[in-house]
Amino acid sequence: MARTAGARTVRAPHGVELTCRGWAQEAALRMLMNNLDPDVAERPDDLVVYGGNGRAARSWQDFDAIVATLRELADDETMLVQSGRPVAVFRTHEWAPRVLISNAMIVPEWATLEEFRRLEDAGLTMFGQMTAGSWAYIGSQGILQSTYETFSAVASKRFGGTLAGTLTVTAGLGGMGGAQPLAIAMNGGVALCLEVDQDKIDRRMRLGYLDTQAEDLDSALSLALAAREQKRALSIGLLANAAEVLPQIVARDVPVDIATDQTSAHDPLLYAVPDLSPEDAADMRVHDPKTYVLHARAAMADHVEALCALLDRGAEVFEYGNGIRVEADLGGFKRALDFPGFIVAYIRPLFCEAKGHCRWIALSGDPADIATIDAAMLEEFADNRSVTRWLRLAARHVRVQGLPARTCMLGYGERARAGKLINDLVRDGKVSAPVAIGREHLDSGSVASPYRETEAMIDGSDAIADWPVLNAMLNTASGATWVGVQHGGGTGVGRSVHTGMVVVADGTPQAALRVDRVMTNDPGSGVVRHADAGYQRAVEFAAEQGIRMPSLDA
Ligand code: NAD
Repeated sequence: MARTAGARTVRAPHGVELTCRGWAQEAALRMLMNNLDPDVAERPDDLVVYGGNGRAARSWQDFDAIVATLRELADDETMLVQSGRPVAVFRTHEWAPRVLISNAMIVPEWATLEEFRRLEDAGLTMFGQMTAGSWAYIGSQGILQSTYETFSAVASKRFGGTLAGTLTVTAGLGGMGGAQPLAIAMNGGVALCLEVDQDKIDRRMRLGYLDTQAEDLDSALSLALAAREQKRALSIGLLANAAEVLPQIVARDVPVDIATDQTSAHDPLLYAVPDLSPEDAADMRVHDPKTYVLHARAAMADHVEALCALLDRGAEVFEYGNGIRVEADLGGFKRALDFPGFIVAYIRPLFCEAKGHCRWIALSGDPADIATIDAAMLEEFADNRSVTRWLRLAARHVRVQGLPARTCMLGYGERARAGKLINDLVRDGKVSAPVAIGREHLDSGSVASPYRETEAMIDGSDAIADWPVLNAMLNTASGATWVGVQHGGGTGVGRSVHTGMVVVADGTPQAALRVDRVMTNDPGSGVVRHADAGYQRAVEFAAEQGIRMPSLDA
């Protein structure tokens, strides 16, 4: 396939030499480049990082302009990035973020997929997905712990704490979905993963996320059922379209214990349709997108109907954050919302204490820095079994992908402790260069997404989008190094508003304060969002932690 104009291979600089005027700017530059590293990004030639069409910059020309601007940016200046294009540099002050980003924001009445595509085709906007457009993506490892914890929660709820002896059927082995087979196997289970793109299957096997590929459905099922019987962990990829093959799995009465999906359903143009050849599909996507969307929604209706059939037979079924239920509903299947999204089913109680996934990235490029932080974290959180269990598992299973990184699920209070520990290690020279600290957008306080993070809030506030905007402003005021507010990530255009942030720990006293403020206030906004909605645990937790909420006092 021809490369997009200007495409080239990008990798972040490694080592301790600055190519910018300060570590804040250097961190933004290295993270932007890391997002597009061919080992990290799904389609780097098109600037697509993950999530179907989530880009890091609007065009290669804009990428070059961002890089040139970061190289010159002073410590009291801030670059504004409007949907992947660096539109201005203003004098601010040393404590201000070096970069402020807004991606794909559209006035609500215009925020439809059709209008977004018109604006995108006109070169006026860019889909940033979640961590792509706010330069914090680190490959499938970024979602691995979250996926692992979700399947652990399924194991605890239904299967006595382990997935040994269970079969999970899912689809989509892309940037995020590719974490599923490893996460299921790490929980002891068998994963059968349907994927239409052979390159994705090869990539997951190469990166150590998928054990094997089956030639056809018969051999996939015999491998899967033997491993299920023997209570042996195994992940199997099958080159297949989920809308076609999941109904066959139902028809054969396969004993499926768990079913979900991570195809790129958030944008129907990205969902593969079984009744079109790849050539016809490619042609129709370009020349007749409306008809393609009709085909895709009909296929998603078949796909979700099969998921509901598994639900009726007693399987644990949930949507995995890609909006497939609402697309199936639009495709005419009216029971699509019979099963819940994964946040409602397993994650919400964690959100009440702002427990979510942070990540730290060694800007040196040296995996030894991550090992040093791992060791210090194991000591600092020695009495926290969830942290120590994960860090040990991650050190064993997660391969380096781009800049070395680690994720860890931490809540309010814990994140500030981790941030201080990392900044101290940089200060003391135990870690060789500064560290970028960020988080998932799958987060408690920085996302409004009625089909995912804020589905079925107890006060009905699912679509209230003040929270991510407040979170962006709070992170800006608290000294984050860059902040991005975005629209449409996860479940699609018109369906979410969310904020990302990164703060750089460079070992200086100023960084110590910035890291402390950001790593306290950012999760604090999550506790507040849930306490304000009336979740009792969040109300109690806010009181225990001394988080001031005048609205509750009143
Ligand atoms: P991706 O585009 O990298 O991968 C999607 C994969 O689905 C592709 O490999 C594609 O070939 C495959 N596919 C498409 N249609 C198919 C079909 N009918 N049958 C089988 N395979 C099919 O996207 P991603 O980064 O893996 O994200 C997947 C989805 O999950 C997106 O909708 C994204 O918005 C959402 N998401 C979920 C989370 C989460 O926490 N669960 C986080 C971020 C994003």
